[in-house]
Amino acid sequence: MIKKCGQYVLILALFSILFGLNLFSFEKSNDLVLKDTVQTVHADFGKDYSQSNLLEEFDYSFLGKIDSYICTSQFNGYGTEIPYSFFKVNVLHTYKGELEKTIIIKFYGGYDENNNLILLENMTYPQKNEAYIFYCNKTTLNYDADERTLDNSYVITMPYNLIKQGSQSNQRAESIVNKIKNDSLVTAITPLWDFDDGGEEPEYINTSFATAATIVLNVSTYVFLYPNHERYYKITNNKLRYLSFYSLGSLDTWVFVYDSSYNFLGGNDNVTGRGSDFTTELNFFYNFYADINQTYYIKVKFSSSSQSGSFHIKGIEDNWYSSSNINDLFWNHHGVNGNKVHFTNSSRYTTEINNGIAEWNKLTTIQIVPGGGCVGKSVSISDYTDTEPNAAVAMTSYNWIFPMTVKYNTYFFNNMTQAQRIKTVLHEFGHVLGLDEFTGKESIINVMHQGIRELTILGPADIAAYRAKWG
Ligand SMILES: [Zn+2]
Repeated sequence: MIKKCGQYVLILALFSILFGLNLFSFEKSNDLVLKDTVQTVHADFGKDYSQSNLLEEFDYSFLGKIDSYICTSQFNGYGTEIPYSFFKVNVLHTYKGELEKTIIIKFYGGYDENNNLILLENMTYPQKNEAYIFYCNKTTLNYDADERTLDNSYVITMPYNLIKQGSQSNQRAESIVNKIKNDSLVTAITPLWDFDDGGEEPEYINTSFATAATIVLNVSTYVFLYPNHERYYKITNNKLRYLSFYSLGSLDTWVFVYDSSYNFLGGNDNVTGRGSDFTTELNFFYNFYADINQTYYIKVKFSSSSQSGSFHIKGIEDNWYSSSNINDLFWNHHGVNGNKVHFTNSSRYTTEINNGIAEWNKLTTIQIVPGGGCVGKSVSISDYTDTEPNAAVAMTSYNWIFPMTVKYNTYFFNNMTQAQRIKTVLHEFGHVLGLDEFTGKESIINVMHQGIRELTILGPADIAAYRAKWG
């Protein structure tokens, strides 16, 4: 029986309302009984994909298993004049792109209203529980647009979009996949192989900055290295945070981290201290400040050039703090009004103040902006001079009826370096954002830990406390 996609969308909506989430917690019938008539359709594409590097050609590549049939959409005047069949697919390994564990494919072909199977030339109807290697793109349509396409589905229009394991074109890829499939740790693999060259071994293409493979946070990535081999990965970071990368395995691994201009930021050989919470000694663990909208490169290798073998690498967001209770890092007051801090400034240290604002504003949830606000929910910034040796370097005070005040002591500020002034500006804005003193609780790399120090970026606990309070 033909399943209508409109019904599916309706059921999906009802289930969403009833159960809030997991849209695919129920199964639909997927009896893919072979029917008598099979009609194939010639489809001509814009280029000869048999000559293409499929990994370069498509946005996504993954090993996926057909979990279940969802529905069929008959031609309604939109799109190609054949049925589309939709299937739920479990993503076993990702080779390219960022994918959910379960996705939907829009397969060009299927059973028409008379139960004739209509397929494009050289395509086979997806079979439940079969694994395929997919090279495909995400739909540019949605159900509202054509009443045929399930939102966010991945489009399968040609034989190169789904390749059955064991087919000739993919024999070498398959041997690697089979080996890796047995390793339960793996949810992503890179080797990204290139099987066009006809050689015995796969060509690993992420062996330079230019060919670095995209790595996804919270996903273990399998790495295999030959002697004298190095592999490159990259991640584009979409919010200000600290990232940690570490290896898992029994071999002695090294990591080197670079910024978007390939400048070396730092690295690690053997794990000590904090990294011991995540992995074992011969592995690496490296924590670093990751700026918003920056790409970072991660190079891995063995410490011994003659070593070959495999390990896993994993990246996590790691805004670490040592207080057992994050609430210990909050102040009772703040100058936030809605999602903004409004301020007026009569201080002479405008460069440092602008630097401090820019750094906090990278966290995006709360924006510090000049002007506006209302009494009791705005901040007044000014200078004062107190030459007492034990006078404060700066002060932030809260009054429920007057604006908050931030005052910088020129006696100290005039004799501080710019980086020291920026650190203090960051600290006082931290109070305005509701953060308490971190002194005695968190390390000195956090701006909320008191003292004159050169520091122009936030520390991990600064970011963790801000994220916990404001998101
Ligand atoms: Zn303070």
